[in-house]
Amino acid sequence: MTADVIDGKAFAAGIRARVAEGVAAFKASQGFTPGLAVVLVGEDPASQVYVRNKHRQTLEAGMESFEHRLPADTPQADILALVEKLNADPAVNGILVQLPLPDHVDADLVINSVSADKDVDGFHISNVGRLGAGLKAMVPCTPLGSLMLLRDRHGSLSGMNAVVLGRSNIVGKPMAQLLLKDSCTVTIAHSRTKDIEAVCRGADILVAAVGRPEMVRGSWIRPGATVIDVGINRIETPEGKTRLVGDVHFAEAMEVAGAVTPVPGGVGPMTIACLLANTLTSAHRSVGLPDPE
Ligand code: NDP
Repeated sequence: MTADVIDGKAFAAGIRARVAEGVAAFKASQGFTPGLAVVLVGEDPASQVYVRNKHRQTLEAGMESFEHRLPADTPQADILALVEKLNADPAVNGILVQLPLPDHVDADLVINSVSADKDVDGFHISNVGRLGAGLKAMVPCTPLGSLMLLRDRHGSLSGMNAVVLGRSNIVGKPMAQLLLKDSCTVTIAHSRTKDIEAVCRGADILVAAVGRPEMVRGSWIRPGATVIDVGINRIETPEGKTRLVGDVHFAEAMEVAGAVTPVPGGVGPMTIACLLANTLTSAHRSVGLPDPE
């Protein structure tokens, strides 16, 4: 048996095209352009790549992109002052503070200083609480993108057994909340979980977000299951080069699963597409329009 490969790249392109149409319609009806502000503190190389991609794709969707690059030693008070300015700026509908922040900065404090309405990352404590309570919230982009891929494949997820590997605030926990909201029976596994392989084998839907290269082997996967691989790990090849792999052993998963997301080209592109979608949603809410389709 060979699994289907879920093409997140193509799916994300479709979302971006729909967002671009929505942005054009918004501009025509409201007379202003939705804007996304990104704050990058320091020189983290991976963050620089993410921020560059976000900037390019924001502009391609027809939105304004405001980039704020600050040196690594910027005092926390200056970062908070910038966020305050962006909160008050009507041209800014979405604010994203790129993580990780340098050690001298209290990341929770900064994240919670972003206006909850403009928190397009969905990390503000009030959005976390609203999602947990099943209320309308800004939903974190990576889990949201993963859910879209699952809904696209299965339609209704109701009654399915979902196992989420990883319990981080940015991926594992919100992923579990979303699956629960879609009426899955959800298990969250983590580094203390006993017999994790058996737990995973019970999954109709397996979402891996652990940050451990190729940890999930074929023998962990129930035949026919849908596997969403959130992991992005750079490993060294025997030739001394590097390549990206997920948290799932892709070749083995392809032998057992019903469908698998590749790395790269699976969940990764969905994350930025959902960020743009969240920014348009925030712009709609700011003028009292219903959420975009
Ligand atoms: P974190 O490091 O914050 O969390 C990892 C989670 O995995 C923790 O809950 C940890 O458990 C669990 N874990 C670690 N090792 C094991 C193990 N051996 N067995 C079982 N559980 C384990 O990572 P993130 O959630 O931020 O990211 C996870 C992965 O997703 C990373 O590879 C990251 O690069 C990727 N990612 C991809 C994105 C995308 O756009 N595609 C966006 C964000 C992240 P415990 O809590 O017990 O320590």
